[in-house]
Amino acid sequence: MTKIVIVGGGIAGASLAIALKRQSVDVVLVEKDPHWTPSSSGIFLYANGLESVRTLGVLDAVLERGWASDGRNVYLTADGSFITETHYPSRDPAHVPPIVGIKRSDLHRALADEVQRLGVDIKLGLTVDSFEDRGPQVIARLSDGSEIACDGLIGADGIRSSIREQLFGKMTPEFTGFGTWRSVHKKPKEIDVKIMMMGVGKRLGIMPISDDQLYIFATTNEPSKPLYDTTRMHEIMREKLAEFKGPAAALLDGLMSPEGVLYTAVEEMALPLPWNKGRVLIIGDGAHACTPYMGQGGAMALEDSILLAPQIAASSDLAATFTAFGASRHERCSFVRKVSRQVGDAGGKELPDDVDARNKRLQTQGQADVDSFYARMFAGT
Ligand SMILES: Cc1cc2nc3c(=O)[nH]c(=O)nc-3n(C[C@H](O)[C@H](O)[C@H](O)COP(=O)(O)OP(=O)(O)OC[C@H]3O[C@@H](n4cnc5c(N)ncnc54)[C@H](O)[C@@H]3O)c2cc1C
Repeated sequence: MTKIVIVGGGIAGASLAIALKRQSVDVVLVEKDPHWTPSSSGIFLYANGLESVRTLGVLDAVLERGWASDGRNVYLTADGSFITETHYPSRDPAHVPPIVGIKRSDLHRALADEVQRLGVDIKLGLTVDSFEDRGPQVIARLSDGSEIACDGLIGADGIRSSIREQLFGKMTPEFTGFGTWRSVHKKPKEIDVKIMMMGVGKRLGIMPISDDQLYIFATTNEPSKPLYDTTRMHEIMREKLAEFKGPAAALLDGLMSPEGVLYTAVEEMALPLPWNKGRVLIIGDGAHACTPYMGQGGAMALEDSILLAPQIAASSDLAATFTAFGASRHERCSFVRKVSRQVGDAGGKELPDDVDARNKRLQTQGQADVDSFYARMFAGT
């Protein structure tokens, strides 16, 4: 039986463990966080990501915990006036919603429960310190001194992947000049739709993540990559986003403590091909981290897993399979990264005089942009 060691139990690693187990591949999952718990903010998955979740067999668990949207996305100005609305598609709306908002920890729980149920050998609080592609096997040396002999090693250890560094040397993720602010709130009954508020050089999104919670995600220009005072994060978030009124005002006013406010410098990673060296491969954010403006990073990680698992199960030459896998994914992940970056740059660089033209463009072109992006996502190329 083929044996694979996965390093990292995030969206990419956990979903790959499930997909491989379903193909009767033997899996060891090594995760450095002893508690295996991601940050407390929200995430949304669009229909292409949800189709992958369905293929993994965990869509019901995700729908139980998250908030399924009919795909409506309402654009407002910073003061809360209506600009337009767009509709995100699903190819199979009876089974797969166009968007689901969910707490990250709930998405993780849905994946982790399935990993455990399938009997994956999970090693928490450990990492792979080094590995050696030796003869017919890869030897992974874990941080507790133990060794695992396997057929292939997959680095799913995120944008700062240590497996990538051991394979290809140090690569620093590219800082984009933007930062994101995220916070989770009690959901007022009247907010039952995804909202995007368009400021000048700033965006603020509101998305329900369960029946009683929503999260705010906002982008600001942060060219100097500042380090903020962690004891004042709630105040700084309120100050930075003070121009957002309408449905955002009461939520921002309710930010009373720094706990639960998450600031992240927005970065990208574009690992050149090949994504493997021999039988060691990088997937997920370690290979293709994109900015969050299209909400597609998690979906790309999920796609990696469901496409890669059957290829591993059928492979008689894992090194060749890994090289072909990277080549097959590179163009799509680069496309998503470029579109997402363009959306972020366009939003971040606009001036007050650009706002009318931007709003008009959203009204006349917004739906066509959504439709053409998702036509490509659903085409699978
Ligand atoms: C602000 C923001 C908002 C986003 N919003 C969305 C969204 O709405 N929708 C969406 O689809 N995507 C979104 N993304 C992108 C998404 O979060 C990532 O693409 C996704 O989490 C990538 O999954 P991953 O498993 O590759 O990496 P990660 O999620 O980073 O997981 C890596 C895992 O590896 C573990 N690890 C790290 N190093 C080691 C090591 N040395 N040894 C063992 N384990 C290790 C970590 O603890 C972690 O569990 C967003 C990203 C950001 C920054």
